Amino acid sequence: MEFKPKTIGVLTSGGDAPGMNAALRAVTRAAISNGIKVKAIYRGYKGLIDGEVEEFTSQNVSGIIQRGGTIIKSARCPEFPTKEGREKAYETLKREGIEALIIIGGDGTFTGGRIFAQEYNVPVIGIPGTIDNDLWGTDATIGYDTALNTIMHCVDTLRDTATSHERVFLVEVMGRDAGFLTLNAAIAAGAEAAIIPERATIIEQIEAAIGQGKRKSKNSSIVLVQEHAIEGGAQAVAKMMEHEHPEFSTRVTILGHLQRGGSPTANDRILASRMGIAAVQALLEDQRNVMVGVKNGEIDYVPLSKAIKQKKDIKDEKWEAIQVLSI
Ligand code: ADP
Repeated sequence: MEFKPKTIGVLTSGGDAPGMNAALRAVTRAAISNGIKVKAIYRGYKGLIDGEVEEFTSQNVSGIIQRGGTIIKSARCPEFPTKEGREKAYETLKREGIEALIIIGGDGTFTGGRIFAQEYNVPVIGIPGTIDNDLWGTDATIGYDTALNTIMHCVDTLRDTATSHERVFLVEVMGRDAGFLTLNAAIAAGAEAAIIPERATIIEQIEAAIGQGKRKSKNSSIVLVQEHAIEGGAQAVAKMMEHEHPEFSTRVTILGHLQRGGSPTANDRILASRMGIAAVQALLEDQRNVMVGVKNGEIDYVPLSKAIKQKKDIKDEKWEAIQVLSI
């Protein structure tokens, strides 16, 4: 069946991620080339509730593919989880003549979008934009590759100073509940260990990391710590280490929001461009409440409900790689 909305809305919501602009550009241009009007909604669900809407032409999205962040801004919106908030959001859609929504964001954004879609019978298509890569049903999310590269470069820089002293450097990495970013950055940067929520207890991981270092008679180690692997993050790990192994001096680096910024990598720009086009295509095919994903290199669509609820696994092979490579 073919569905041809006259006007669609697009928004970016939740944590921002490099490549969101590239996705916005692709959605805008794919829609316009199919004769569909595009209205950009500023500040995610907040702008939907407040009516911060602007019609976009192809020119509005020129010169943005290389820019990090999102030109239409993002926000966390405590009103959207309420019935009253969503009702106001629907009023905006009606007033603006928006017949379908493309939402670019993560888990929270999709949860809200799904509820809204069911309540008001509005087709909603999700594009995964999050540095955490924690969504089920897609091999990669927009922003993940850029963040991975940013972290890798930071750790490379840190290594220069780390090797000049006898220390354990603990680098705290983002990732919400997921260890993908930490584990893969650890492999890419050649870290001695990664501490992630999905594997072993913290103390076991610390012992393993120290053990690896000793075996090599290395005088310094770099350990990547996922921010929520333990309450208190890398600082808490440092305290534990100093308690258990006072012979080691520890240094903590929290990368924080550095990880979210920067110009998107080629991989993220390509992924975002493909996903933006595929999201418009999904609407034209009358698909509803699905997320655009990539599986084995091909575009794939998965129900939002699955993307939100199911948990993506860390591959054992990747986890074992760290152990093998740090001997
Ligand atoms: P992300 O999309 O990056 O996971 P958040 O978790 O902050 O970011 O979610 C973005 C926004 O989505 C929230 O500020 C809120 O407006 C909306 N949202 C999140 N969870 C829900 C929910 N359970 N019901 C309705 N809206 C939600």
